[in-house]
Amino acid sequence: MAFEGLTERLQKTMEKLRRKPKVTDADLRETMREIRLALLEADVNFTVVKNFVKTVQEQAVGAEVLKGLNPAQQIVKIVNEELTKMMGETAVPLNKSDHIPTVIMMVGLQGAGKTTTAGKLALRLKNEEKARPMFIAADIYRPAAITQLKQVADSIDVPVFDLGTDVDPVEIVRQGMEVAKEHHNDYVIIDTAGRLQIDEALMDELANIKELAHPDEILLVVDAMTGQNAVNTAEGFDEKLDITGVVLTKLDGDTRGGAAMSIRAVTGKPIKFVGEGEKMENLDVFYPDRMSSRILG
Ligand code: GDP
Repeated sequence: MAFEGLTERLQKTMEKLRRKPKVTDADLRETMREIRLALLEADVNFTVVKNFVKTVQEQAVGAEVLKGLNPAQQIVKIVNEELTKMMGETAVPLNKSDHIPTVIMMVGLQGAGKTTTAGKLALRLKNEEKARPMFIAADIYRPAAITQLKQVADSIDVPVFDLGTDVDPVEIVRQGMEVAKEHHNDYVIIDTAGRLQIDEALMDELANIKELAHPDEILLVVDAMTGQNAVNTAEGFDEKLDITGVVLTKLDGDTRGGAAMSIRAVTGKPIKFVGEGEKMENLDVFYPDRMSSRILG
């Protein structure tokens, strides 16, 4: 289960603190040290951990928790609040255009879950807003990618615009946008190509698509299981494309959680959704406060 190791360690640390009749400065320092190690072990970004521990410590000292009642309980409260802040404080909704179609561009490395997430998002929009989304298949490098998008689209009854694999992706997007306007689709979801790692050619192509389509939302899909790599990927895509949000997938897996806790702090960009399974229904809004409570167990 996600965060299992981290939750266990944090709980142990807090339990130890609770059992003390009186919490001393030394106990507080030891607690901070344990929290620091637990976060690093969970693959949270080093600088993020450093800042986090410093802030929690300052808060605890400032609030004079050691002098008050239930210092352990108060420290848990501070940790909870700071974890929530670190992950963005509040849920950030999808950007919407004031005229249709709202354009959502899905980007990410191959295998992160881009196509699956595009499907999940379309289903969500259909269910919640009775929206009529359309996909544009702009990954021309893997024929299987178009087939996969069509399978996903069929399963949720959403149309796909594609021109096969021999047309330039920017041209595909241009024509697709025209079709969406003619058909009055209220959302266009562009499924772009991924690579095994970030490369110039891919980034240039995505930048060209962005320039043409003026997306309201550029959602970067990253795999939570890849830990710090997910954070590096997010930085790389953000630098080139100025992404508007992140979807963290595979949070149902055995992730240590570092990506979930670092991405916002490192990139400043919100995690908007999390994927928690392979099914089309398995996409949830990301609530930092709920995630924090889940981490603390
Ligand atoms: P893409 O290459 O980025 O388009 O990735 P895909 O959409 O093809 O997804 C790659 C694999 O990850 C597929 O087997 C998906 O079923 C799986 N996947 C995507 N999102 C999730 C998720 O949230 N949880 C789990 N367990 N698997 C996921």
